[in-house]
Amino acid sequence: MAPVEPSGQYDFDLLVIGGGSGGLACAKEASSFGKQVVVLDFVIPSEKGTTWGIGGTCVNVGCIPKKLMHQASLLGESIQEARSYGWNIPDPISFNWESLVEAVQNHIKSVNWVTRVQLRDKKIEYVNGHGVFEDAHTVIAKMKNGKERRITAKDIVIAVGGRPRYPDFPGCKEYCITSDDLFSMPTSPGNTLVIGAGYIGLECAGFLKGLGYEATVMVRSMLLRGFDRGMVDLVQAEMEHKGVNFLFGKIPVKVSKQPNGKLLVEWKGGDEIGQGEFDTVLVATGRKALSEELNPSAAGLQVHPESFKFITNAEQTNIPNIYAVGDVLHERPELTPVAIQAGKLLAGRLYNGIQEQMDYDNVATTVFSPLEYGCVGLTEEEAINRYTENGIEVYHAYYKPTEFFIPQKNVKHCYLKVITLLEAPQKVLGMHFIGPQAGEVIQGYAAAIKAGLTYQHLKDTVGIHPTVSEEFTRVAITKRSGDDPTPQSCCS
Ligand code: FAD
Repeated sequence: MAPVEPSGQYDFDLLVIGGGSGGLACAKEASSFGKQVVVLDFVIPSEKGTTWGIGGTCVNVGCIPKKLMHQASLLGESIQEARSYGWNIPDPISFNWESLVEAVQNHIKSVNWVTRVQLRDKKIEYVNGHGVFEDAHTVIAKMKNGKERRITAKDIVIAVGGRPRYPDFPGCKEYCITSDDLFSMPTSPGNTLVIGAGYIGLECAGFLKGLGYEATVMVRSMLLRGFDRGMVDLVQAEMEHKGVNFLFGKIPVKVSKQPNGKLLVEWKGGDEIGQGEFDTVLVATGRKALSEELNPSAAGLQVHPESFKFITNAEQTNIPNIYAVGDVLHERPELTPVAIQAGKLLAGRLYNGIQEQMDYDNVATTVFSPLEYGCVGLTEEEAINRYTENGIEVYHAYYKPTEFFIPQKNVKHCYLKVITLLEAPQKVLGMHFIGPQAGEVIQGYAAAIKAGLTYQHLKDTVGIHPTVSEEFTRVAITKRSGDDPTPQSCCS
């Protein structure tokens, strides 16, 4: 395909700032409609000096390395279980962090490479430069070698995502790492303190424990803010069962390095003070949008005063030719598929005449904790707030995955919940599931919810036996009834 000439007085039809999930999806879609596109992507090194290639957070320091390490941790568990299924496995088995990091990083590098090839094939220009606005149609790309390039475009899409936020206490930036550093850590993390109990903190603590390291989570107020509280209690109980320690109601006040090389963490909580020694301290206390670094005011762009994110209408900012997608959007889910879908649809609306808007409701997600918690739709608290306690029905059940019996795995926290409107036909408002492969289970039900799933549909669906997903087709006990939701037998 010959390069397409940009329309009008600009260098490009579309300039995308940020070569991550949302930016790349938008750029590729726009180029498929014959537009001339340039993508700027630049990674500012972390405080520890970690940096990575094109593809953004998900590929390099997010979903992908996280899922691979989660899988490594599950495999360790499976090897132990395999003995009870007749496998002769030498004791003790051992695990090598360096080998895992090498395998994970090799995979990431292959994805970086494929991404660059795709951009080249699609004739999308890739500039490894940090973009800063000069005006609403002009961005200065600052390269690593100090050179600058001035690029103009008719439309600009901001897809710069975010980076971990460092809390402010002595020694934090000097001695702590973030998720940006963990997946490429050259030596094993050892006994780790995770500060923060959002999904990233819990997932990291979960897989580290599964890989054989001591893991402690420091929780300021609550685990998994914004998720269904009843489900979160079970996530916590399961993590505790697996040996993850929790320090509740504590905030760090200082980290210092001891002569023995360990990190001494001092904390406080109410009137209490405490301290502990760790090999690694991982801060996971939220993420900061990279909007201010763009010098948005030069283009007349406004950001939300607290989140510093862009408030958009159909992904359009307050400046008509500038759009934003992904994690940099105010009050939108910070998830890869959300960024991708929004980026693709935006390109379709801009350059292919489609009308379809991004639907940010009923986006499914999973916490790989490591017994997974998958959910879609409203939490029980949100449903009560919106429809009152008498306006909804909550069906729930504990269940026993068949494969848990022989190795006598803990089934106490395998639980699901379906929240519906009380009134027939009992439209499903939310589905929550803790158990193996929860992400795989919930994905299909998310499509059903989009299609208008009701409780009657679930009842009419014949399950696949023996699976954990079939439990949603069998759930019949309401919370209101007060009946015992624990299962009596597996097959009746
Ligand atoms: P990003 O993917 O962050 O891409 C932005 C890119 O822009 C980056 O490469 C950045 O360096 C670059 N950039 C920034 N500023 C500039 C500039 N001025 N000029 C040029 N380039 C710039 N999501 C899920 O859906 N499932 C998961 O399981 C999951 N797990 C995660 C685990 C972790 C540890 C983390 C940190 C995140 C996880 N996420 C997960 C979230 C997911 O990674 C993000 O939602 C997604 O990457 C957002 O995409 P984006 O396009 O908005 O930004």
